[in-house]
Amino acid sequence: MRGMADLPLAMLAELTHRCPLACPYCSNPLELSAKEAELSTEDWVRIFGQAADLGVLQLHLSGGEPASRRDLLDLVIAAREAGLYTNLITSGIGLTPKRLEALDEAGLDHIQLSVQGVTARMADHIGGYKGGFDRKMHVADHIARIGFPLTLNAVMHRQNLEDLPATLEMAVRLGARRIEVACVQFQGWALRNRSALQPTRDQVDQAKEVIRDAISTYRGQLVIDFVPPDYYSDFPKACMGGWGSTGLNVTPDGTVLPCHAAETIPGLVFENAKDKPLAEVWHDSPSFNAFRGTDWMPELCRTCDRRDVDFGGCRCQAMAILGDATATDPVCRKSPGRPLLDGLLAEETLPEVAPDLVYRRI
Ligand code: SF4
Ligand code: SF4
Repeated sequence: MRGMADLPLAMLAELTHRCPLACPYCSNPLELSAKEAELSTEDWVRIFGQAADLGVLQLHLSGGEPASRRDLLDLVIAAREAGLYTNLITSGIGLTPKRLEALDEAGLDHIQLSVQGVTARMADHIGGYKGGFDRKMHVADHIARIGFPLTLNAVMHRQNLEDLPATLEMAVRLGARRIEVACVQFQGWALRNRSALQPTRDQVDQAKEVIRDAISTYRGQLVIDFVPPDYYSDFPKACMGGWGSTGLNVTPDGTVLPCHAAETIPGLVFENAKDKPLAEVWHDSPSFNAFRGTDWMPELCRTCDRRDVDFGGCRCQAMAILGDATATDPVCRKSPGRPLLDGLLAEETLPEVAPDLVYRRI
């Protein structure tokens, strides 16, 4: 039966899991899709058309590194022809000046460039890729020369939060109009590195002050979006703006997900865009309907006045920490799981806890 779901505004197309970098905070799953399993150009073109018909306005092309797909230009052309606003989320590695110029001609609307640090030493250490920083800076120069609207994506964590002011300066220097400074979210591979990357409460408090000052300093010059680590918040984030309400993800092999980490929830069955039209998946898929609205909520959330604000928080986080995807997000102060999260935080941020970063090699 067709539900009364809202229509999605945005689609994240994870074009490939291949990536030259090996960031320890990567949120991609432990088990990556192989190149051979990736959707073909024709599959993606069909899916972009279906997405536009379904009401999607914004297409985020991500990965892995989307530039690892040889057909990136064809995909951007197809997405623009389908009437989608196109945003490329990239580490920059693999984007030659020639490719960038062709993407510009194809009508690519926006670029989000990730940065792993403000110095070559830090960036190459975190990205696990020697020479990556210098290459990225060349790409950034070329992006500025072409005049692409640019957002810088900086993931902050225990090892680089002190560099926050320099990261903001870097964004201005590179001509970015916006910076998204997100404290690491512990999903996928990042969970392996949680104790090495978990910021301390002091670091988070200082970062909030830096951001407060920076917002007035850079007003009119740089838009700053700061995503604090939710482990230190009192209430959870409205993950995906509510499950199955505003966006969807398609993974490199065509699996359609309500959110990036949804496959970590056992018992949910996900459809593939190769087999089913996107509209059918969006409206009728049991996995999309599993946590839509408020009926699925535990009593604590169903009777709470924030239930339409945060929708009970993140299902994948409830699964990761409490082993129960139907539980109230343990970030919530009212959750019976909160003491467990506080215990984890206290353990992982002890000064003597400093494990080495674990890199994934593809
Ligand atoms: S987080 Fe790093 S390793 Fe993961 S896809 Fe992005 S650039 Fe690649
Ligand atoms: S009880 Fe549920 S709805 Fe209320 S604030 Fe906590 S997570 Fe949000």
